[in-house]
Amino acid sequence: MDETKTVGELVLVATPLGNLGDLSARALDLFRRADVIYCEDTRHSRTLFSAHDIPSGGRLQSLHEHNEVAQSAQVIARVSAGELVVLISDAGTPGISDPGTRVVAAVIDAGLRVTTAPGPSAVIAALTVSGLSTERFVMEGFLPRKSGERARRYEEWASEERTIVFYESPQRVASVVGELAERFPGRRAAVARELTKLHEEVIRGTLSEVSDELSHREILGEVVVVLDGATLSDIVSDEVVLAALAEQWSEGVTTRDAVNYVSSMLGVPHRDVYQLALASRKDGSTK
Ligand code: SAM
Repeated sequence: MDETKTVGELVLVATPLGNLGDLSARALDLFRRADVIYCEDTRHSRTLFSAHDIPSGGRLQSLHEHNEVAQSAQVIARVSAGELVVLISDAGTPGISDPGTRVVAAVIDAGLRVTTAPGPSAVIAALTVSGLSTERFVMEGFLPRKSGERARRYEEWASEERTIVFYESPQRVASVVGELAERFPGRRAAVARELTKLHEEVIRGTLSEVSDELSHREILGEVVVVLDGATLSDIVSDEVVLAALAEQWSEGVTTRDAVNYVSSMLGVPHRDVYQLALASRKDGSTK
């Protein structure tokens, strides 16, 4: 340990998603100075260090989802002793669908210092290249494996107005996007694959289009799915539109004016309100 250090800290360091050039100068400096570096997989991280000529000998410790709680006591002891303790995961930002949150909470609870050397994270990288709104978004991590639990999640998304981001395996992405396309065919989506790597690509379109594309090919590598939030017209049910039309008709308003009024009042596209008005008139359910 460096005897000049008096205040210890735990630093969360983000590492590249694939392109080694994305490792920050600060991350490199921290790796060189750290007393100990906790890694999800020490063998995997050794490759990162040797690519940057950083001697890791003796300083790497493992911290993964199965030993995170047990290792937290060791991390606390080291930070208390004034050490510079670094935490990394295999790729991206520790704690985001990766180990880290429990050790961070434990170190904070112990009254010790936790800081960050931020950098790559697949959630932000995918969101920002998706072309979808970044103003408000929700990160869903990995979706549940059980179909019933996934279906419940989709129910929530029927009225979720924020952009939705989730991680998915390449083996399951086509079927999950297919399930979503059945429910929300017209919603825009993006599947970001192999970001920062040689085969980087982003498949964009409506869920129907993206699902169609995925069903025609083999998807390899790492993927993130980004999905548009629900618009008001997704949330407003046909029944609500029909009731508003009926009210207008009952006051003697013409269909044309009723459609214009209801469309602007409810924020539902004019075309959709007009179709509902026509269908309703045809089956004679309203005036
Ligand atoms: N902590 C990481 C982060 O901040 O991005 C995420 C870890 S999570 C275990 C791994 C998932 O991130 C992958 O299954 C994939 O969904 C996504 N991912 C990681 N690297 C990616 C890349 N280069 N391109 C697209 N998605 C990636």
